Amino acid sequence: MKFSKPLSYLLSFFYPSRCPFCGNVSQPFVTCCDNCRPKIKIQTGKYFIGNRWLCTSPFRYSGLPKQAVLKLKFNSCGQISWAMGKYMTDAIKESFSDYSFDVVTFVPMHRKRKRKSLYNHSKLLASSIAKNLSLPMKNLLIKTEYNKPQHKLNRDERIKTIKNTFRADSKSLDFIKGKTILLCDDVLTTGSTLSECCKVLEKAGAKDVFCVAFAKA
Ligand SMILES: [Zn+2]
Repeated sequence: MKFSKPLSYLLSFFYPSRCPFCGNVSQPFVTCCDNCRPKIKIQTGKYFIGNRWLCTSPFRYSGLPKQAVLKLKFNSCGQISWAMGKYMTDAIKESFSDYSFDVVTFVPMHRKRKRKSLYNHSKLLASSIAKNLSLPMKNLLIKTEYNKPQHKLNRDERIKTIKNTFRADSKSLDFIKGKTILLCDDVLTTGSTLSECCKVLEKAGAKDVFCVAFAKA
């Protein structure tokens, strides 16, 4: 749902914006509170995943940015996704200025996991990025297997368990063909999740896939 700016201000009284790093209430449309601003270090980087696809991220996964990801994941703190998506949008503009995208999508959750969580945090980030870049956001992928959460696994287990666990959403097969897609996730760790998703999208006929994560581990 898209609200006008005055209405967004009004809504912010009931659902105030929060600083993604400390969780305190902050000014609407401000990405970070005055306390945290001097402490955060933007380290925009560009990384290859699966030796093939490019991924960018504004932060490294430690300190305050790590706190932001944990808040988004486990504290049902949807009010911080706008600000996190804004940092990711800046990284996209810096790293992928030579490219244009047709659509924003996200790493999907298995339906069992969806039942347990209030929302898919990667989808919230994708939605913020899509608004910032004036692009459509679409659900293009389905998670077919239920795995243990990735952060509980080591590198080899991650790569093994994530293989062949995504497929393209049959409703989106026509849409994917020939598109340049921006794929979002919260954290880039081994890149195994993102590269599996890129593979599926390419196999379904995407022209190109680029990735963005909030933080690189
Ligand atoms: Zn703060």
